[in-house]
Amino acid sequence: MRKKIQNLIVGAGISGAVLARTLAEAGQKCLILDKRGHVGGNCYDYKDGNGILLHRYGPHIFHTNDRKVWDFLSRFTRWTAYTHKVKGLIDGQEVPVPFNFHSLYALFPKKEAVSLEKKLLETFGPDQKIPILSLRQTQDKELHFLAQYIYEKVFLHYTLKQWGVPAEELDRSVMDRVPVVLGWDDRYFQDAYQAMPSEGYTALFENMLAHPNIAVRLKAEFSAVCKEYAYERLFYSGPIDEYFRFAFGALPYRSLHFEMKEFPQPQYQSAAVINYPNDFDYTRVTEYKYFLPYTCRQTVAGFEYPLAHERGKNERFYPIPQSASQALYRQYAAAAREEKNVRFFGRLGGYKYCDMQTAVQDALALAQDVLTGG
Ligand SMILES: Cc1cc2nc3c(=O)[nH]c(=O)nc-3n(C[C@H](O)[C@H](O)[C@H](O)COP(=O)(O)OP(=O)(O)OC[C@H]3O[C@@H](n4cnc5c(N)ncnc54)[C@H](O)[C@@H]3O)c2cc1C
Repeated sequence: MRKKIQNLIVGAGISGAVLARTLAEAGQKCLILDKRGHVGGNCYDYKDGNGILLHRYGPHIFHTNDRKVWDFLSRFTRWTAYTHKVKGLIDGQEVPVPFNFHSLYALFPKKEAVSLEKKLLETFGPDQKIPILSLRQTQDKELHFLAQYIYEKVFLHYTLKQWGVPAEELDRSVMDRVPVVLGWDDRYFQDAYQAMPSEGYTALFENMLAHPNIAVRLKAEFSAVCKEYAYERLFYSGPIDEYFRFAFGALPYRSLHFEMKEFPQPQYQSAAVINYPNDFDYTRVTEYKYFLPYTCRQTVAGFEYPLAHERGKNERFYPIPQSASQALYRQYAAAAREEKNVRFFGRLGGYKYCDMQTAVQDALALAQDVLTGG
């Protein structure tokens, strides 16, 4: 006999956990499944032998301007203030990324930098964030030279390494994500709330899922266990193409490989993250000790290598931002609308890159929709 379940939620990542908690608090019973042996999805972290919290699926920094998201998550964690800063190795120097006036003055002779700063401010105004492709369209000879320099040194090779295809073959949005900053603010994010969960992300999600109306089942792949349940509603945050058995073909993703290395010294590098646009096979190196306070003498850095996604061999990380993959996704989205009592959500269910705050906003909105009869 199938076990009766009110809400079956596939995926114990941030999307699934926020949905489960919100439905549970409204009095609804939820079973949340995950094929992995842990909760937290790609935000999962764990302590190494020295007590340093490492992020298995890449460095995650929480940031939002949305007070509602901040207040919701704050119920399940204490926070440690953290301002994220990134540098890039350009022409042998580690300079701030996004490219800003600090980077300009570090890389150009002072006289030239003063003249470029003046022109940038006259043309665009102070503290503007200019997408590199817009900057490249400027007619001014000096600014065009600068734009070309930044494009080649910061974007061109990084994008090729990261995506495996030239920048021109990707949606413009990829380049727009990290604009050139016409000012001295060298924070990577400008959001009002920026912090790391003091006990880590995994603890945050364990707290969120600790509710009498929520049952968690790990190491449970949906297709293998779904016949055990008779559910009223299914919420699916796994890959949408997999749910439909790849009926229209597989949605393309980019994958990553992380190599964690321990070093016998208190600090390894000059910033939490250093990007390598032009050198080495890895794109960036993250030193995890920057995220929270530690007293241990050792440190750990994660070297990040992009690679093609191969189903069953590595993880899906980034949906490929190209019009062909979006067209394929739209076929799945249309099929999804025909499914009765099934809702697709999260980064894999919606085939989209979303940061944590967007995942929380979307899951809260989905819960609201369900609870108001949508
Ligand atoms: C390298 C990298 C760095 C990032 N850094 C940041 C950052 O600094 N800040 C930020 O805000 N965001 C960051 N993000 C985005 C963040 O990872 C996502 O917002 C978040 O993971 C989305 O959560 P989710 O629950 O939708 O998906 P996921 O975290 O992927 O969770 C989905 C879960 O579903 C499970 N699942 C899938 N299929 C099945 C199945 N068939 N049966 C059972 N379980 C299944 C998976 O095992 C997984 O646990 C980063 C993303 C990447 C790739």
